[in-house]
Amino acid sequence: MARGTFTGGIHPYEGKELSKDKPIKIVFPKGELVYPVSQHIGAPAKPIVAVGDHVLTGQKIAEAGGFVSAPIYSTVSGTVKSIEKRRLATGAMCDCIIVENDEKYEEVEFKPLKPYEEMTAEDKIAAVREAGVVGMGGAGFPTAVKFSPKEPDKIDYVIANCSECEPYLTSDYRRMIEEPELLLEGLQIAVSIFPNARGILAIEDNKPDAIAKFKELTKDIDNISVKPVKTKYPEGAERMLIYAVTGREINSSMLPADAGCIVDNVDTLCAVRRAVMEGRPLMERIVTITGEAVENPQNYKVRIGTNYRELLDDAGLKCEPAKIISGGPMMGFAIFDLDVPTTKTASALTCLTKDEVAALEPSACINCARCVEVCPERLVPKNLADAVEHNNEKAFLDMYGMECCECGCCSYICPARRQLTQLIKGMRKIQLGKRKK
Ligand code: SF4
Ligand code: SF4
Repeated sequence: MARGTFTGGIHPYEGKELSKDKPIKIVFPKGELVYPVSQHIGAPAKPIVAVGDHVLTGQKIAEAGGFVSAPIYSTVSGTVKSIEKRRLATGAMCDCIIVENDEKYEEVEFKPLKPYEEMTAEDKIAAVREAGVVGMGGAGFPTAVKFSPKEPDKIDYVIANCSECEPYLTSDYRRMIEEPELLLEGLQIAVSIFPNARGILAIEDNKPDAIAKFKELTKDIDNISVKPVKTKYPEGAERMLIYAVTGREINSSMLPADAGCIVDNVDTLCAVRRAVMEGRPLMERIVTITGEAVENPQNYKVRIGTNYRELLDDAGLKCEPAKIISGGPMMGFAIFDLDVPTTKTASALTCLTKDEVAALEPSACINCARCVEVCPERLVPKNLADAVEHNNEKAFLDMYGMECCECGCCSYICPARRQLTQLIKGMRKIQLGKRKK
């Protein structure tokens, strides 16, 4: 089968060998769990518990704050200790519900909305909404909203984004290897919501065992197939993946649904399966703790709200990291405080050593055009960055700066180590703010 791909992109050091063969390890949190009311795109959730309340594992503690929002559930049993502002991995302060874990893990009784065979598409979407499922690949867009496009009959493909192109990350890979049925059933449920859709598992070809496993599992399923995609960063970016799988193109002002596609990441589809079939809310995810500074890189099954420090304490450090990144080195962001909670979108903690970071000192542009060659959006990053440095918003917009997907390829390839992505990202943020106003 031909491998799908896109123009541009890079082949960074993968770093996946550090953790890819480590089976998922379950960790039980100690002490308090912290639940930010904003861990998704859209309106913050509204707390429905008070300080002193006893809560159970799986009990709703915050209601969705609007149509584009998601409820939040306690992932342990215990007592609501406070509702206060806490710092998140992004550095932002956010209202959080703090639950003191009693370490008994007493659960509410989970039950599906209806027997699966009796469920309509609307019932399935309602179950996903009620469970607080959001895009767990990093975007945090509420999945029920994604499953509710204006014209559901025009959706041709539901794509399971199994590429995991971000260096170092192996959480999706471990899910695929250890719980393939969970993912496949999640995809089947998502496909069943759209009358004319078929499902595609898009898997990078550096995961041949996952490709073989899903080919075997889907060989008798008519409307689901496996599409190997070329191992190249950012293959898993939504626009690149849609192009690689279907040949269809979208720009920054379009949604995947405008091209007849719905794209969901691995953990998200597993959460969809649990929500619809078991009535279980989103309470856990797989997080990779990795990097050359980590003693035992691991993939953890984490109860959302667990402190990052607890995970790193378990994995251990063999040297002081020069840089700790929430996520991977391409799309993640540096964090300076480990006392922050894991959220629905927390995929990894990457601890880099001094040597890796030392190579990143910027110098003057040498006009080599390598940033142009690798840009998957076919932009001219050098000129965009120049426009930002001269505060020339018009030139930035005229050169389609808003089409940047912030993949980081230009910064990665630049021999002068210019902070191209950071500059472009900053200007995009300003422009997006203006659009909102
Ligand atoms: S300009 Fe944007 S899309 Fe192009 S390589 Fe740089 S970060 Fe990626
Ligand atoms: S890759 Fe760096 S040095 Fe080369 S043209 Fe782009 S900005 Fe300039």
